[in-house]
Amino acid sequence: MPYELAPLPYAHDALEPFIDTETMHLHHDKHHQAYVNNLNAALEKHPELAAKPIDDLIRDLASVPAEIQGAVRNNGGGHSNHTAFWALMGKPGTDGVGGNPTGAIAAHITADFGDFETFKKTFNDAGLKQFGSGWAWVIFVDGKLKVVSTPNQDSPLTQGHFPVLGNDVWEHAYYLKYQNLRAKYLESWWNVINWHEVNRRFAIAKG
Ligand code: MN
Repeated sequence: MPYELAPLPYAHDALEPFIDTETMHLHHDKHHQAYVNNLNAALEKHPELAAKPIDDLIRDLASVPAEIQGAVRNNGGGHSNHTAFWALMGKPGTDGVGGNPTGAIAAHITADFGDFETFKKTFNDAGLKQFGSGWAWVIFVDGKLKVVSTPNQDSPLTQGHFPVLGNDVWEHAYYLKYQNLRAKYLESWWNVINWHEVNRRFAIAKG
């Protein structure tokens, strides 16, 4: 069974005005769909790999045959990363979206970063300093939240870390609305973060 692109968990215009409708159409319907299509093409001769949950495929990248490992790293990574990304956002102003962190993650942010503003600044800096395309992430290592970044579609899963949250800093994520102003996009993105989903992922990361 090939991989499939799930619909967005909200309308394409739900993240307005912070992420525009046209960007969501291009980003989900075109870019994410292309990762899924390219992944399925790469796995045509390896149907047993296509049976794995996408996060397991990326976690076990080392076991993927060498001739398709690059294609799986990029396109499977793209599928895994974007699937997480859509769920990590929600309609601004609805319960648990934007504003201050809630639940278990709130206390851990304070413990590990001092306050939410410092946490946001650390995360935004990681996204800003990621040269070219990539992602900013929060992972949970040795009992602490840690901000990291990856190039391209590389996932923390491949390094053994379940991402608690992540933001896409490829230009396709923000260029239509923010042009070259990645910092402005990063700052604005906190208005659509879904803290319920962050807490759900944090519980998994803690194990
Ligand atoms: Mn993207």
